[in-house]
Parts: sequence; C-alpha cells; structure tokens
Amino acid sequence: MNSIQQNIEQITSQIEDAQQKCGRRRESVKLLAVSKTKPVEAILDAARAGQKAFGENYVQEGADKVAYFSEHHPDLSLEWHFIGPIQSNKSRHVAESFDWVHTVDRAKIAKRLNDQRPTHLPALQVLIQVNTSGESSKSGASDAEIFELAELISALPNLTLRGLMSIPANVSDYQSQLVAFKQLAELKDKLAARYPELNLDTLSMGMSGDMQAAIEAGSTMVRIGTAIFGARDYSSKQ
Ligand SMILES: *Cc1c(COP(=O)(O)O)cnc(C)c1O
Repeated sequence: MNSIQQNIEQITSQIEDAQQKCGRRRESVKLLAVSKTKPVEAILDAARAGQKAFGENYVQEGADKVAYFSEHHPDLSLEWHFIGPIQSNKSRHVAESFDWVHTVDRAKIAKRLNDQRPTHLPALQVLIQVNTSGESSKSGASDAEIFELAELISALPNLTLRGLMSIPANVSDYQSQLVAFKQLAELKDKLAARYPELNLDTLSMGMSGDMQAAIEAGSTMVRIGTAIFGARDYSSKQ
C-alpha cells in the first residue's frame, strides 16, 4: 500500500469516527477526493484503494482526466465532480464531461449547463454554491438568490438539484467553523422544506482543515485534497 492509499484509509477512518462521535449513521458522509493539479497516476492509486468520486477545479484539466479514465480505465467507473468557478465560455466542457457540479451560483450558468448537457447522459447533478460568509469578493449565491435559483434549476430537465455547497472563510477555531457550517445546514433544511418534491440530500462542506466541524454540522460530502494527495504545486497554473 502506498502513501495515497494509506491516506485514504486514514481519512475514511476519521470520517467514521466523526460520524460515530456525533451520532450520525455510518456511511452518511461521502469522501470526495480533490485531485486538482495531481497526475492521473495519483488518481489511479486512490481508485485502487477503492475511491470512486473525484473533484476537479480547472475545466480543461478535469475534462482531460475524465477522457483519460473513460478511455483507459472504464472498468473503474469513476464519478467526476466539478468544484471550481465556472466561466460561461467554459460551461460546455463541464456539461459534457462531469457527473456533478458543486459551483452553480447564477441563472445564466444553470441555463447553459442544461442546454449543453448531452441528452445521452444522465442529468447533471447540481449543487448551488452559497456564499455563507457574505463576502462580496467570494463567489456563491446569497441566501435570497438561492431560492430563486432553486426554482429555476428544478424546472430544467437536464439538471437535478441535489443540495448546497460552500467554502467558508478559512478559520482554525472549531466553534467558528461549526457556526458557518450550521448556517448552511439550516439553509438546506429551509430549501428542502420549500421543495419537498426534490431530493435535496446533499451538503458539500468540509475540507482537510475543517472536516470534523463540517461532519458535526451535517455535511454529507467532504472535499479532501491535501490530506490525500499531499501539498499542491501550482507553478504550471501561472
Ligand atoms: C482545493 C479544494 C478543496 C480541497 O482542499 P484541501 O484543503 O486540499 O483539502 C476542496 N474544495 C474546493 C472547492 C477546493 O477548491
């Protein structure tokens, strides 16, 4: 077993411990391995440790990896999540390559993804990205916009709304992390109450540095990069 596989085992057992500690059901939190900037060999190592779901932030890099695995390792049946900012001129690649998108934050992007989703593929699974910290510099819909956006997405046939995602301000204090995550969980409960006919079962929150608080607050999907694959080298992205 190599270090990536050991890291997957370790994170998986940390997730299990956190679930147990806060009285949550086993396997109620899914691990999304964030593989941005990492080579296909690293993804293959993780996949051989049983990891199925991978998150990518850059459209072209992600689409290339999806194509690589569907050509060379179709038997692995990996699930691909787009978790980066979406510019409208790049939405087509996202619609054509990915299974999930976590970062829908405006109507224009939702409509483009719906129009560009190939009809031979299942509906694209969508999360609305919420700006929980209320900072105007960060992407994400405000609380008020979320309800309008949910209404719009629920009427689009090639998209399936599954819940909310956020990237809260990076703080190390557990209680502050918990407060921000609980806000998102409450918002998702309100949305689910408004749309009982939709299957809003997903809260994508928690990263390497704040996974425990996210799980206590009700996360169903943690997005872990560094703790699985090690530090990232962004020099090729400049
Ligand atoms: C990079 C990234 C992650 C993973 O972050 P780590 O700190 O490496 O675990 C999670 N979510 C999003 C949206 C990211 O861009």
